[in-house]
Amino acid sequence: MASSREQSLQTDIIHAGENAKREYGSIVTPIFQSSIFVNRNDGDYDGIRYIRLNNTPTHLALHEKLVRLEQGEAALAVASGMAAITSVMLGCLRSGDHVLVQESLYGGTHAFVKEDLGDYGIAFDFINIDDPGQWREVLRPNTRMIYTEAVSNPIMRVIDHRAVVAFARQYGLVSVIDATLASPVNFRPLHLGYDLVVHSATKYLNGHSDVMAGAIVGSAEHIRHIRHKVNHLGCSLNPLDCFLLHRGMRTLAVRIREQNANALRLAEYLSRHAGVRRVNYPGLSDNRYHALASSLFDGFGGVLSMDVDSERYDAGRIVAAVNLYADAVSLGSIESLITRPAFTSHSGMSVEDRRRAGIDDDLIRISVGLELADDLIVDLDQAFAAGER
Ligand code: PLP
Repeated sequence: MASSREQSLQTDIIHAGENAKREYGSIVTPIFQSSIFVNRNDGDYDGIRYIRLNNTPTHLALHEKLVRLEQGEAALAVASGMAAITSVMLGCLRSGDHVLVQESLYGGTHAFVKEDLGDYGIAFDFINIDDPGQWREVLRPNTRMIYTEAVSNPIMRVIDHRAVVAFARQYGLVSVIDATLASPVNFRPLHLGYDLVVHSATKYLNGHSDVMAGAIVGSAEHIRHIRHKVNHLGCSLNPLDCFLLHRGMRTLAVRIREQNANALRLAEYLSRHAGVRRVNYPGLSDNRYHALASSLFDGFGGVLSMDVDSERYDAGRIVAAVNLYADAVSLGSIESLITRPAFTSHSGMSVEDRRRAGIDDDLIRISVGLELADDLIVDLDQAFAAGER
């Protein structure tokens, strides 16, 4: 799957936004741990440099890397993935507007849409991932945005992103995608025609489980609106975390390629295991989304999930028995993680919403790290043995 674009992206990841001026000979972009900067503008508010305004030199360096990776025009670095998502929605939508959101959303986004958007006078409808024909039925004259995820978490379903972009253009909607699970190494949604891409940079972009951050990339015009909202909400990322995220991103291409390969090995192993009823991973050739994902992505990512055959195995005991995987929420880091979403990341959803999203109690999600795949398989093997009823 290596393409020339991927090679140049790999180079951009190393060099974009780095210290081209080599201040004091420094190769690495320094942290400008200063909240204030000497005023050098002529009364233009946008010229003021201030830590909350997302425009210290450390922010700007990170923006440059994000813009190059996502092939956008402008970027913002914010305090979390949820800060990115809420700032984009509140920045682009007004009271009286309506938004179409993909079903099976990340739990936090789902909760924000269902529980908070109404407080701002913004209505929503869910769109069916598998049926673009249904989208027209829920469109309203006041619909302004369509919001999707690159790959749904934790069932790993893939919406037809080309159809989303075409639909958005036909009806004049702002198209927004959360591409956290894919990362820019596997998928560049702006290139496909999306208006805005958001990431929980807490996950793959940083990749080391030591930073909470969010990223927003898109056209200069969209980012200008959203920047105002970010400034007012006060959710800019601090320079130290900008620096750490910038550093983490330098290894993104090699990490993602290794995680793609590890996840595929695990998915193949699990799909042959007698204790697994179904493996959810679009990289498997018999997965219902395989053809679509192959046409959109350069790799299938490092997250997969499986439904355990609960008559023969106890999912809770399997999770308790692993040694190499941490039982923790989140994903996208160098260490492998394992979780039962019904009891962790998606426990805030109602039972009906969870059932509709296909998240059973026996579902186990794995975020594959950078350990040797053989070691990860041996560990899962012994965990299954421990979980046998
Ligand atoms: N989007 C997706 C797909 C996620 O998985 C998460 C967190 O798990 C988020 C957004 C929220 O990110 P954060 O925890 O950085 O706010």
